[in-house]
Amino acid sequence: MTIALMPLPYAYDALAPAISADTMTTHHDKHHKAYVDKVNAAVTGTPHDAEPIEAIIAASRGSDAKLFNNAAQVWNHGFYWLSLAPAPQSPSGDLAAAIDASFGSLDALKKELGAKAEGHFGSGWAWLAAGADGKLQVTETHDGETLAGGGTLNPLLTIDVWEHAYYIDRKNERPKYVAAALDHLAWDFAAENLARGSAWIYPA
Ligand code: MN
Repeated sequence: MTIALMPLPYAYDALAPAISADTMTTHHDKHHKAYVDKVNAAVTGTPHDAEPIEAIIAASRGSDAKLFNNAAQVWNHGFYWLSLAPAPQSPSGDLAAAIDASFGSLDALKKELGAKAEGHFGSGWAWLAAGADGKLQVTETHDGETLAGGGTLNPLLTIDVWEHAYYIDRKNERPKYVAAALDHLAWDFAAENLARGSAWIYPA
């Protein structure tokens, strides 16, 4: 099985001016594609050849850093595209209730997620995730590390804080990118992830 480059779920300019078409084109067509190409090159002719990306992530974690990082980045980027929405969305129903129970308010959650994304040292990802107890939390992972592949947290949303996610638009000003991303979070996707109760599956 060949791992697919998941298409963007919206037009390249759909998030502009928050995130420009130039950034989205480079990010998806160059960065995401490069991770996909590297995984496919690495697994061709190996037992991983027929496996979905989640199985490759789980199998390579701790044993093959190069394959793990590329595979995790394939998944993380697919999840990130879906974590952003062109039109503003708001949490409702069970998700809104879980946010209020866990953070007190949506504003408090956005403040904590924004601070985690802005403050992350180096490359990585800021996440909203649900614990096994149903409580929501903000967390971060470094470099290619991911919440996919069998951990205890169910990822609901992510913000990419690698420089390639914002440098074209914002140069060194990560907080401006984070603020823009916070206004485009796909709460409907977060609600789907929460309702499913297990991690999103990257499309084959
Ligand atoms: Mn990225």
